[in-house]
Amino acid sequence: MNRIMISNAVINGEKRDIYISGNKIEKISGCGDPYPANEKKIEGDCHCSHEPFTVLDAEGMTAIPSFANMHTHAAMTMFRGTCEDMSLNDWLNKVWKMESRLDDDIIYCGVKLACLEMIKSGTLCFKDQYWRLGPTVRAVSEMGLRADLDYPLLDQNDESKDDGLFSKACEYYDSSLSWPETIRFSIGIHSPYSVSLNLMKKGAAFAREHSLLINIHLAETRKEIADSITLHGKTPAAYLSEAGILGPDVIAAHCLWLNDDDISILGKHGVSAVHNINSNMKLGSGYEFRYDEMCDAGITVCLGTDGCASSNNLDMLETMKTSALMQKAWRMDPKALPLGDLFNLATRNGYKVLGLDGGRIEEGALADILLINTDGYAFTPHYNFLSNLIYSAHSDCVDTAICNGRVIMRHRKVEGEKEILEDAEREYVKLLD
Ligand SMILES: [Zn+2]
Repeated sequence: MNRIMISNAVINGEKRDIYISGNKIEKISGCGDPYPANEKKIEGDCHCSHEPFTVLDAEGMTAIPSFANMHTHAAMTMFRGTCEDMSLNDWLNKVWKMESRLDDDIIYCGVKLACLEMIKSGTLCFKDQYWRLGPTVRAVSEMGLRADLDYPLLDQNDESKDDGLFSKACEYYDSSLSWPETIRFSIGIHSPYSVSLNLMKKGAAFAREHSLLINIHLAETRKEIADSITLHGKTPAAYLSEAGILGPDVIAAHCLWLNDDDISILGKHGVSAVHNINSNMKLGSGYEFRYDEMCDAGITVCLGTDGCASSNNLDMLETMKTSALMQKAWRMDPKALPLGDLFNLATRNGYKVLGLDGGRIEEGALADILLINTDGYAFTPHYNFLSNLIYSAHSDCVDTAICNGRVIMRHRKVEGEKEILEDAEREYVKLLD
């Protein structure tokens, strides 16, 4: 069994040793004697067994849980920088045109690039929605990350497409039964405005039959709300509720334009919400993310970046900072979205929504751990770690990443980085005119 000891890591201001056994944190204890054979497999008593273990010296570093990016379209790293300063209509047309040119190689290289970026910026667990799950699974698995992937049902309200789309989702479900244990499948319903009622109901019923999560875009723009009221006489949240789509298995991305009734509907059904601040700001979607009201209604709120066609990066530290600054500015209240909440939104809330026991450095939790290098100006003075991490530092402070009990980055080195960058540079040109 894979065994790791992280020595001298700071947790909540105290130096501790962390023992990992398999994919779990087995034990956290006070620091023992210093180990001279750092970074080597050594025979030794790690206080919990006599099997060999690898020692990682974390002197000068703080251990935190991995971030969970709860809304991505990972392969869209290939679209980075291609759609700037456009109207939403022009942006959509350009994205759809490039998406019509996607092939397995582009997806594979784009997801590898996304995984590289996520590892280097501290995200080891993500919720993704996109096409072509075969090359996606291969890329995620090679990079050693944890992911929940869905294939979006999207018929543009043309029910003649439903059977084909639904059987594709069923095929992916069947193949997911042999995916690695760290990669799960869920059902994607693109949005209430782009999917027919028939297909939404079929997707939701299938998800519930097989205990799968349902991922949907909801209330992203004011136009979406106005169109829904014109067409159905009700808001998108009310429409989904009456159609029987909502439930505690639903993850709703954006949730930017919810009225009081919508918030209470989502709370009553136990829906989770994902805030994607950078994407919303970049696409000029406005801002009405009612964090306090959602919490009061019992909604679990998480953070995401969205795809790189709009957010340009997958950086959760940047997402945390912008989310808090925008919430404070909009509420005209410097106490809004405080640090402790912010950190939980980016870590344990995501794991909880995915039904995973992680996002925390505690015995028994999944061993998805970051070691943060706190040398340098961003962490000086060492007065408030969370404040320095979120408001002062950048993601290059992430020194080491351990996912599912495996070291996938040490001292910022990720295996195959050069090839991943070269491959992406070669493949992306196929998307352009
Ligand atoms: Zn999205």
